[in-house]
Amino acid sequence: MPDPATVTATPAPGRACGSCTLCCKVYDVPAVASVAGQWCRHTQAGRGCAIHQTRPDHCRAFHCLWMTETWLGPEWKPERSKMVLSLDPVSRNMNVQVDPGQANAWRREPYYGQLKRWAAASIPMRRHVLVHLNTATTVVLPDRDVALGILAPGDRIVMRERMGPGGPVLEVEAVRAA
Ligand code: SF4
Ligand code: SF4
Repeated sequence: MPDPATVTATPAPGRACGSCTLCCKVYDVPAVASVAGQWCRHTQAGRGCAIHQTRPDHCRAFHCLWMTETWLGPEWKPERSKMVLSLDPVSRNMNVQVDPGQANAWRREPYYGQLKRWAAASIPMRRHVLVHLNTATTVVLPDRDVALGILAPGDRIVMRERMGPGGPVLEVEAVRAA
């Protein structure tokens, strides 16, 4: 789960988690020893958190992008899309954390086409659309997807343009911190 100190957004009017609990599965939550890809042991399917009153600050502060942005339609509600979206507060990269039980959810429509459109719109701003499956990261580009594997803290994603026979080609790579 992203650092709650950096995710201070509040839910948009009319948005509520309801029966969704997907963020309790897809992120690490160290305060309750929950590991990305497995349901937190406090999750009550379709009902929320069994320790709601005393849940960690980490959980208390987090609201996914669907909760804060009404321009994301009902199809993007995480329990339906099988993806939890968030915006990195520093890089403004779009993070798409996929339910590992539905690992190809992001390749289905209407999601894949929308991710491609966001990727195209992000390039001029040097931002990325990143799909995460547990700890493995894939960069979505308008014309292809680039699997980078597991990124360590401090690793950077570098995008550059080179000229090819058919015109400019985008290249993406992970630059390791150590
Ligand atoms: S993924 Fe979003 S909508 Fe679902 S429980 Fe978490 S914050 Fe609520
Ligand atoms: S403690 Fe509650 S809110 Fe936090 S991850 Fe577990 S079930 Fe979800």
